[in-house]
Amino acid sequence: MTKDSVYQQLRGHLSYLGLQRAAEVVASHLEDAQRDHPSFTAFLERLLAEEVESTEKRRLKGRLRFSHFPVVKRLTDFDFDAQPGIDRQMVEELATLRFIEEKANVLLVGRPGVGKTHIALGLGYLAIEAGYRVYYTTAADLAARCRRAALEGRWATTMRFFNGPSLLICDELGYLPLAGDAASAFFQVVARRYEHGSILLTTNRSIASWSEIFEDSVVAVAILDRLLHHATVLSIDGDSYRMRAHRERLAEVRKGVVAGTISE
Ligand code: ADP
Ligand code: MG
Repeated sequence: MTKDSVYQQLRGHLSYLGLQRAAEVVASHLEDAQRDHPSFTAFLERLLAEEVESTEKRRLKGRLRFSHFPVVKRLTDFDFDAQPGIDRQMVEELATLRFIEEKANVLLVGRPGVGKTHIALGLGYLAIEAGYRVYYTTAADLAARCRRAALEGRWATTMRFFNGPSLLICDELGYLPLAGDAASAFFQVVARRYEHGSILLTTNRSIASWSEIFEDSVVAVAILDRLLHHATVLSIDGDSYRMRAHRERLAEVRKGVVAGTISE
């Protein structure tokens, strides 16, 4: 490593670890230290590199714990060939995480089992690895928590909580209707995050039928208006991966029965 790069590395490590004063000291003494004791500077760099690595791991673990993911899914485990109804290029663009920087939203629309949650969690994991705070909830849970918070006088805290993460994953909108208080709580979360932080929403319902989810077309339009202003809509047209796997297993069993390797 050249003298300059040791110096840059050292500064980088110290600033990552939040040791601003030490970074200043390194800046003023490094010339002397490097001249008189080059091995000392190299040693300091290695020592701090270790500390950075373990801090990085600890912070990653903390962000993962905070995210409340129901399960870890990786985009690298998603079989795009098995789901030709998905725009792979669009997923790859989302995987750059530019949408989080732009505070834009993502809507994943498709029937049950097509891989919406898998893609949402896969993108979420990348965001956590990149250092963003991510939080996973289902739409029904979010509405229920807001409602409870209102009853218990914790509305403002709960709103702040849902506003905090850089990416809020809101899964399964549309399986259960969100009417009245639930719709209005959902609206408030969306409105507060608008142009402030990204929402990644998955739904089994086409956007045209959202007034049925909220049982109120005015609320549905107000929510959609904010969600869609800066958004990528990814429709997944295809068969359920679960059903497909199930059918394949069934076919294997049938083949086995016909060939006499499995007895009924
Ligand atoms: P959805 O949220 O759309 O109902 P999921 O993402 O939960 O569907 O997918 C159902 C199951 O099938 C999950 O275990 C998921 O990991 C898996 N799965 C779905 N699509 C794929 C795919 N193309 N490649 C690999 N696994 C998939
Ligand atoms: Mg799902």
